[in-house]
Amino acid sequence: MGKGFFNVPIAYNEPVKTYAPGTPERDTVLKAYKDMFNSKIDVPLYINGKHISTGKTKTMSPPHDHKHSVGSYHLAEKSHVEEAISTALEARKTWSKMPWEQRAAIFLKAAELIAGPYRAKINAATMIAQSKTIHQAEIDAACELIDFLRYNVQFMADIYSEQPESTNDNWNRLEYRPLEGFTYAVTPFNFTAIAGNLPSCMALMGNVVVWKPSDSQIYSAKVIMDVFEEAGVPPGVINVVFGDPVMITNTVLSSPDFSGLHFTGSTFVFKELWKQIGNNIHNYKTYPRIVGETGGKDFILAHKTADVKQVTTAIVRGAFEFQGQKCSAASRAYIPKSLWPEVKKLVIEDVKSFKMGSPDDMSNFITAVIHEGSFDKLAKYIDQAKKDDDADIIVGGNYDKSKGYFIEPTVIVTTNPNYETMHTELFGPVITIYVYEDEAFSDTLKLVDETSEYALTGAILATDRYAITEATTALQNSAGNFYINDKPTGAVVGQQPFGGARASGTNDKAGSAQNLLRWVSTRLIKETFVTPTDYRYPFLGE
Ligand code: NAD
Repeated sequence: MGKGFFNVPIAYNEPVKTYAPGTPERDTVLKAYKDMFNSKIDVPLYINGKHISTGKTKTMSPPHDHKHSVGSYHLAEKSHVEEAISTALEARKTWSKMPWEQRAAIFLKAAELIAGPYRAKINAATMIAQSKTIHQAEIDAACELIDFLRYNVQFMADIYSEQPESTNDNWNRLEYRPLEGFTYAVTPFNFTAIAGNLPSCMALMGNVVVWKPSDSQIYSAKVIMDVFEEAGVPPGVINVVFGDPVMITNTVLSSPDFSGLHFTGSTFVFKELWKQIGNNIHNYKTYPRIVGETGGKDFILAHKTADVKQVTTAIVRGAFEFQGQKCSAASRAYIPKSLWPEVKKLVIEDVKSFKMGSPDDMSNFITAVIHEGSFDKLAKYIDQAKKDDDADIIVGGNYDKSKGYFIEPTVIVTTNPNYETMHTELFGPVITIYVYEDEAFSDTLKLVDETSEYALTGAILATDRYAITEATTALQNSAGNFYINDKPTGAVVGQQPFGGARASGTNDKAGSAQNLLRWVSTRLIKETFVTPTDYRYPFLGE
């Protein structure tokens, strides 16, 4: 075991490449995109280091070209999920005893594989599977995932070095044990980095994992598994199953050895899983850890002293990058009447300047939304806004799914601060704006706080420090990530630990030691050097 107190490499954020015309990275990623788009892959289940083809498959298609196939993935039966569980439990016997520096080395290697030889591949896969522009793919699939892998190693070392005091006569040691049993990672479509982080951070802490990715992210999930395999994650440590989420989840949660859920996705699904875990509580050998990061109705609040161009850019970038499909995307904004005419003009100008289409045309700022279900839902809300008297679409409002699931970035202005789209998460390129009287700033803070059930991200833009102070206090519980004079998106691992409260999640801050602490169960070891040999204390003396 340990023969040294090893220092881990100092973590740093992976520099974001520009992909500007003429750069080598642009040519490399476009070539990877073209090759991958024009060939077909077959994605197996990954159980015990084996690639399992079940024969039952589903086609994978890019959201921006849904009639085109890039291959298919295999669907698990119940028996495969059971095998993933039993294989994980078997792997635990050796993995949980693996020295921490060996585990660290595997995931540090994974980071460097993504930074180097896999960078173009994982970015191209994310452009194809999730319709990200190259910039959105680079900041997610490459940089954020690399950052998670590097920083998690540093956080693990920080956690392990956190030790209690000892005395001459006794030595107190804290051991950060992996959870008993196996853990379950359920990941969303929208971030390749989250898909990679949720299973890997639990494995890094010595746990074994069953991972169920989103059906809409399987192409890039496969690249993650290729990287993990090449980095040396041993068989059985991370097992991947695709298919019916209800069957897979029922099988996992009914196992007495289930010991932790690491979930990111929508609020409703998370609450259902929590309920199911509660219903099964008498069957488990240990109390399962439950970590969930879920939906948001993220706000931008401008004060009358804010800079109009800054407000416009926060709205335009915050609401529309990646088609508004970031959990942190701004989807409601509160603008004072005095700034509104100018903000309105600039927002309309900016939105009209967007180009929309396939991500391999790098002049496109907007691409498609993830799938038909999302497209239809967004179209329904847009149509309703066209009908409602208290809503007005000032730009956008069109949609077309003939080739890809394209929704025009849309700005709704409402006179009703409780209008449906001021509080419901739509998860698409739609923002709703409410214009308030300049002097009603304090009342508006109350509105921001009380309008939605979520509390994920939010931003205040102002130059008046009293207004910033008032907003920071009044909105203390309205967002887990609160931004001053910035857009509410774009958290960077190691700089802005991410997560929300209320209906948005358990706020266990991805990208921080706080999250990793959920995946260990500490054992205190007290060792006494001169052990008492008589029960009698001095006070019992004559
Ligand atoms: P989703 O809830 O539809 O799916 C998430 C995962 O849950 C997928 O793997 C899916 O297959 C699985 N799932 C779906 N139904 C299930 C069921 N009945 N039982 C078990 N598993 C089930 O979410 P999505 O569309 O992939 O992602 C978008 C959502 O994720 C948004 O609500 C967004 O706000 C949220 N999100 C939150 C964060 C955050 O950090 N707070 C980050 C990313 C995404």
